[in-house]
Amino acid sequence: MPTYGMSLFPDKLRRNFLGKKGKEGEGKGYYLVKWNTVMLSKERGGLGIKNLRIQNKSLLMKWLWRYTSEEGTLWKEMIVAKYGELNPWCTEIVSEPYGWRVWRSIRALWNSMEENVFLKIGNGNKIKFWRDGWIDQIPLSESFPDLFSICNNPEARVCECWTTQGWDLSFRRLLNDWEVDRVASFLEKLGGTNLVTNAPDRVIWKHNKDGKFTVDSAYKKGIQAGVRGYHHHWKSIWRGLIPTKVKCFTWLVIKRACLTQEVLQKKGKQLVPRCFLCNLTGETNNHLFLHCKFTAQIWELFLNITCCSWSMPEHTSDLFKCWIRKGGSKTQKKWWKLIPSCIWWSVWKERNGRCFEDRSNSIHKVKWNCLVSLLFWCKQLCIEDVDQIIELIGSL
Ligand SMILES: [Zn+2]
Repeated sequence: MPTYGMSLFPDKLRRNFLGKKGKEGEGKGYYLVKWNTVMLSKERGGLGIKNLRIQNKSLLMKWLWRYTSEEGTLWKEMIVAKYGELNPWCTEIVSEPYGWRVWRSIRALWNSMEENVFLKIGNGNKIKFWRDGWIDQIPLSESFPDLFSICNNPEARVCECWTTQGWDLSFRRLLNDWEVDRVASFLEKLGGTNLVTNAPDRVIWKHNKDGKFTVDSAYKKGIQAGVRGYHHHWKSIWRGLIPTKVKCFTWLVIKRACLTQEVLQKKGKQLVPRCFLCNLTGETNNHLFLHCKFTAQIWELFLNITCCSWSMPEHTSDLFKCWIRKGGSKTQKKWWKLIPSCIWWSVWKERNGRCFEDRSNSIHKVKWNCLVSLLFWCKQLCIEDVDQIIELIGSL
């Protein structure tokens, strides 16, 4: 059985594995992208690395689910004997400080569980008529407090208020004239509900079509809580057979987390304050990959072969979105979306050559490298219709 403590230690290890640990005398290390972002799913702009805390919580919730849905099992009977039942779906809160810590951690998750389930009426044996939210998930005691205050049995179960002729409601006193309308709307609310005498009352998990809990769906729900920003373009980074290192690199460029001088300076490293490709201005992510005079010539190479009008966006993330959306012509479609990764990869290699190895290529050579890489990826992806790329290589 998972326990909370298990999740803490590996998380630190995994974080250090992906980040740069500071060497002795070099001070603190650094991480290119926030760990919370890394743990988002790929569709939401992360790397899809499991958040162990949420995964652990989801695994523990599975036991709460089993409690709601299993009848007559020994383990459940033991738990009930030890803690007592709050209702048919859960035990009383565990307040003892010692012993049975596992169930205490599980029981503590009941509030999260409750937010993600609803009750489905069957024979009405378990659900309380007034107190449980079995119609529109709101208890009748809350939607009709005036009638609840005069009901005969606030703890009655639904089956006790039902006869084969219909609802059998009794109140402590005769109704006043002004209350008759309220009872009419109350009965209207109940009108659409029929008890299913041969099926038990059930708890339904909201996030699966079949209403059953799965750890996977609970994890997805947990990881997405409070996170917006699903974009199709994130998904398109990870598709295709281009090298994984290029996919990761593209992700970093879009996140503006590549180790350009702009980023290094933010991390407290003082370096040469100029772009290695044009020597004209500082090296920021957007400059290096979009607006630099050197890089712009490679973008133009591709923009010249398409008829779409284009103005260069300010940020790499905007470029990626527009580029994918605008696409090329029908025959270009398949390889068109590989172009940003291909350009950024070629530019980065050239930049690193100049920065670390004192080796520079002409723009002509970088264009040629870029086109050859693109052609190679197309072959790997079995994309045909690459005549235009071959023509471009020939024209250089
Ligand atoms: Zn530049």
